[in-house]
Amino acid sequence: MGSFIFYNTNILNEYWTNSEATAFRVDYEKELKQFEYVPQPKLVDVNLRLELYPSTRDYTVEGYYILKNTNREDITSVHIQKLLEGNITIDSLSFEGGATQNNHYKKFDYTIFNLNSVLKPGDSVKMYFKQSFITKGFESGNSNVNINKNGTFFNNSDLPTIGYNRKYELNDADERKEQNLPIRYNKADRQNTNELVKARSGSDSDGLNFEMIIGTSEEQTALVPGELLKQWTNDNRNYFHYKMKIPIIDFYSIVSAEYEIKKDHWIYQKDSISKPVDLEIYYHKAHDYNLDRMLSSMKASLNYYSENFSPYQYEHLRIMEFPRYAQYAQSFPGTIPFSESIGFILDIDDESDVDMAFYVTAHEIAHQWFGIQVEAANVKGRHFILETLSQYVAMMVLKEHYSEDKLLQFLELQKDIYKKGKDREAFTEPSLEFVENQDYIYYAKGAIQMYQFQKVVGEENVNRALRNFLEDWNSIDGKLKTKTNRYATSKDLLNYFRAVTPKHLQHTITELFETVSHLKVSNDKDN
Ligand SMILES: [Zn+2]
Repeated sequence: MGSFIFYNTNILNEYWTNSEATAFRVDYEKELKQFEYVPQPKLVDVNLRLELYPSTRDYTVEGYYILKNTNREDITSVHIQKLLEGNITIDSLSFEGGATQNNHYKKFDYTIFNLNSVLKPGDSVKMYFKQSFITKGFESGNSNVNINKNGTFFNNSDLPTIGYNRKYELNDADERKEQNLPIRYNKADRQNTNELVKARSGSDSDGLNFEMIIGTSEEQTALVPGELLKQWTNDNRNYFHYKMKIPIIDFYSIVSAEYEIKKDHWIYQKDSISKPVDLEIYYHKAHDYNLDRMLSSMKASLNYYSENFSPYQYEHLRIMEFPRYAQYAQSFPGTIPFSESIGFILDIDDESDVDMAFYVTAHEIAHQWFGIQVEAANVKGRHFILETLSQYVAMMVLKEHYSEDKLLQFLELQKDIYKKGKDREAFTEPSLEFVENQDYIYYAKGAIQMYQFQKVVGEENVNRALRNFLEDWNSIDGKLKTKTNRYATSKDLLNYFRAVTPKHLQHTITELFETVSHLKVSNDKDN
């Protein structure tokens, strides 16, 4: 058994030692960093067919991307990064019009395709590919945990991506020094023009048309974003055809499991022409304890966000349970994979507990606005926009549905989380407007500071600021988004906060968001 384990984890599946992994990261950066900002086309269309085989934990996916040159200069080559994962093979990859391969960087799974015909500004090209994921052993690879016999969940970062990927760089500050690498910041400065035009870290798209057919075993239901156009069985397998009616961000989930389904619907009352939104919760049999809490949160959240910010953009909203190997929920367009451990199987006592199944649902639905309707530039303060605002609006839904006291109880929990995080912090704590990857700041402290801000200027005024921010910066037709051709930053957001704050209270914005101030958690605005 011992040698079998060794074989599986060390040779077949590239389970590197620490020093091997470090050497790879150092070389990756040294050799490929030169390509980080080389102009590349953007994804505008994704059309795929995926066959998932849960019993053997394998899949194949094939189809095409349409890539468009959105730059001002010609593009002569496309750089493709395969995910570093021993179980994944790109079986074929080709470009309409042809291309020759430069395999000089093959050891990084990085290939440069020199196009036979130049891609002029505004022109598009189809890229066809086929990729397989074959589980070779029981502990193989690094994303293998995502492909399960019952409970598969992975996202499009497993598929071929475009260009240099910062995630493969060496992150640890001391190790970088040892390797003579320059100081690395998790997020760029707010003035960095290269990163201001990127929505997600290393985003390959500014919005894409999405369509996918997915097949799975006969007991399972498979879900990706989009309206379900058609469903059928063939050869004892279930097939689902999904398509999005409006362009989505470059972030989609692939989910399959044996599911029970709870269905309901929601209509926006204030608008007689609105279509009903199908609400669906996909859950594992016997995990039905909190379905009503989650469903009432779906309705309360859709009500609050539509009423105060902008209409919900899809005709469906789905929550899908996945196993507890990961303890988080994540919002993709119209679809929210949700770990069983943070919602479905929580034991909640309404007397003594905060209803976290309700709260986490509200937070994830908030991302359909903050993260999907409006995207934030990939610079410092990005998570202030995405995470802190989602925390804040979910808190307002919690307050409306439960009480101010429940909200204060929630804030006490955030205070503890913040203190623990601050104790662990090895560097100087940044202000919220410059937060990088410190979750104790953008989740916990952010929630507390936004609550204080709301106490000072009033819930209505905060909502007005957020509504105007969304209107100007949303990715579909935001006036400033279109005019500036970049994504929003925390500096932009704070301008909207300033606009709704009386002159004599402007200093609170500086105190709460622009400095590392002392924390208050109190119901009393003078405290
Ligand atoms: Zn979040």
